Parts: sequence; C-alpha cells; structure tokens
Amino acid sequence: MEELYLIKIGEITLKKGNRKIFEKQLKDNIKRALKDFKTTVIIKSGRFYLTVSNCPEEIVHTRLSKIYGIVGFYKAHKTSKDFEDIKEKVFDLVQQNLNNGRGRTFKVDTRRTDKSLSMDSYQYSATLGGLILDKFGDSVEVNVRNPDFIINLELRESAYIYGFGGKGPCGLPVGTAGKGILLLSGGIDSPVAGIMMAKRGIKLDAIYFHTPPYTSEESFNKVVDLSKIISPWCGGLNLISVPFTEIQLKINKEVPAPYATLMGRACMMRISNIIAEKRNAICLVTGEAVGQVASQTIQSLHFTGSNSQLPVFRPLVGMDKDEIIIISKRINCYETSIKPFDDCCAMFAPLHPETRPDFEKTTEIFNSLNIEELLYETANKAEIISI
Ligand code: ATP
Ligand code: MG
Repeated sequence: MEELYLIKIGEITLKKGNRKIFEKQLKDNIKRALKDFKTTVIIKSGRFYLTVSNCPEEIVHTRLSKIYGIVGFYKAHKTSKDFEDIKEKVFDLVQQNLNNGRGRTFKVDTRRTDKSLSMDSYQYSATLGGLILDKFGDSVEVNVRNPDFIINLELRESAYIYGFGGKGPCGLPVGTAGKGILLLSGGIDSPVAGIMMAKRGIKLDAIYFHTPPYTSEESFNKVVDLSKIISPWCGGLNLISVPFTEIQLKINKEVPAPYATLMGRACMMRISNIIAEKRNAICLVTGEAVGQVASQTIQSLHFTGSNSQLPVFRPLVGMDKDEIIIISKRINCYETSIKPFDDCCAMFAPLHPETRPDFEKTTEIFNSLNIEELLYETANKAEIISI
C-alpha cells in the first residue's frame, strides 16, 4: 500500500539563490534513509510530498525524525477539491483520532493557496467543523485555543488532509556544508559533538584511534555501536579505525609524563588532517569542552588545535557535562557511552597532567619526538568500516 507524507522544512526556506541545492540534498537524504522501500519525493512550493510503499508508519516516523532539515511530518490524505471528497476524508481522520483515544476537542485549520475556490479558509474550517459536530455529536467538542487534535486542510493543486505527525530535528540537510572528520572516542562527548555538527549540514566520517592490546576489542565494538547509533542523523557514516599503539608507546617512552596526553592529542590531530585531505574533508570535530579535563584547558586546547591546519569545531565548548548528558540520552548514546571499557586516554593518562602547558615548551617537546614519518605511516594503515 502506498502512503503519503507531507514534510515541512524550516531554515531552508530562508535560503535564497541556492535554496534548490538544499532542497535537492534533503530529497536525496530522505530517499536514502528509506532506500529499502519504494519512494517518490516531490517538492512543491516549500513542501515535500513523500510517497512510500509498504512501509510501516513507525519506520517512517523513526527515520524522518532523524533527518536534519525536516521540521515536521504528517501522514496525509490527498483528494480532489470536491467538497464531498474533502468531507469524507475529514470524517475518516476524526474517526481515527477518536479510535486512537487522542481526546475529544478539536479544531479545523485550513490553508488555501488556490484562490479560485468559492469559500475562503475560514469558511472551510467553520463549515467542516459544523459537519463534524453534526456527525460525531457528543464524542467531540470544538476548542480553537488548545484542541486535543487538529484537522489540517491544505487546498493547493489538490486537497491535503492531515492530523497528527512527528517532529523533525530541524537544522540543515547533511551534505550541504561540506565534509568533516569527527574524532570519535568511546565516551559521552564526541557522539554528541558529531550530531551537533551534522545538524549544520556537515557530512561526517568518524576516526577512532585504537590502541590494542591496551584497549580491548570491546572498546572498539563500543565505538562501532556508537557509530551505528549516530549514523542515521549523519546520513550514513564511515568509521575509520587507526592503529595508535606504536605512537602511544613512543610518546610514553620519550616524553615527560605530564605531557603524554597532550602529545597523544597532537598526533591524533595531525593524523586526522592527513586522512581529511585524502577524503576531501575540510574540518575536524571533537567533543572537547573548556575545563572538562586537564587536556581541555584553554592552554591545552590552544596547543592541540595548533596541530591542525583545518579548522577544529568543538560544538560542546561552552557546555556543562549535565547538558551534554541530556543530549546523549536523547540520541540514545548514553547507555553505550558509559559502558566501562577503557579508552587509550584513560589507560595512558599521567597521574599529574600538565594543565597550563606553555605553548613554546610543549611545541618543542612535540618536535623532539620527530614523529612526522610515523604519523604518515600510521595514517596509511587506517581501515575503513562502512556503518
Ligand atoms: P569523549 O567523551 O568524547 O571521550 P572525553 O571527555 O573523554 O571525551 P577526552 O578523552 O579528553 O575527553 O577527549 C577529547 C576529545 O578528543 C574527544 O571528545 C574526541 O573528540 C577526541 N578523542 C579522544 N580520544 C580519542 C580516540 N581514541 N579516538 C578518537 N578521538 C578521540
Ligand atoms: Mg574520552
């Protein structure tokens, strides 16, 4: 069976000259998210009309609710503009609402772009409202201020009738802002940072620096699981696994302990830049927030960031951990993120890390590692896993 969904968009409508590019990307993203079903998407005056065959409503809801660029979506019924046809569909929708226990108060909301019709929007709403009261009697009551359910009628080239729907995540369609590399560890912060930048249209690949045997297979699987959870928001995701053990051991052998974490971060930044270039990515994304841990003081972030040619976006920079956890729970990452498998940072973290690193001194320590060649070799060993 074929169902119709009406999709409303938000920020895209503010775009002027290149609005078509944003609309086309959103259309592709919707089709991609539902690629296991037969779909068509038609864009007409700021509305998207999706038809999808043989797909349960819950699946459509789950998938559309994770596509950036969508503000809301509604299962809709299309009919001719003949009043009897409209009335019949409106009655069906009222009945459905009553069957589903959505309450008894309602209003009819009409929008009319077809100005050739004999009644105006108000007359349509009032007439249909009266007919609903006649037919359903005591089961319903009009409440225009705060109704339990709304019957929406849009009169365009056809009539569209729709009621309850779902919320989209707003933002801009993934793919409209270029590519980026997300440094994804197994923690709470980086998956949240990833979806925040995907919301601004960045198409992400994720990099995980893996330190076997010091970090277990479980740690790696946890990152795979997190990638799977955030993938629908990211319009799909490649996970790039980089073997980091040799570098980490060299650092721990050659660098004063308080600087070990900072040197690890610097190497991650540099390798991410090398891989970004190969994959045409033009920014990095991390889950850092000022002051959260020793390696995230302003001085530490200054040093770490200086190891990236590309801009480093840190969308959590001003957030409290509690605020980050709220988002982490909302995107269903939290329970996975808190699984107790060590990441390389915890394992190799010094007891007394340097919290106010002097920029010159830290850069000197990094240079003394003479590690450039090893960074390129390591980047070449990266493995790509399609999520
Ligand atoms: P998270 O919760 O994202 O792990 P965190 O609070 O544990 O962050 P750090 O361990 O200091 O913070 O890491 C800061 C950022 O550096 C992470 O958010 C992530 O972007 C990146 N990062 C750290 N370790 C790794 C790793 N092993 N692989 C990929 N990125 C990493
Ligand atoms: Mg971490």
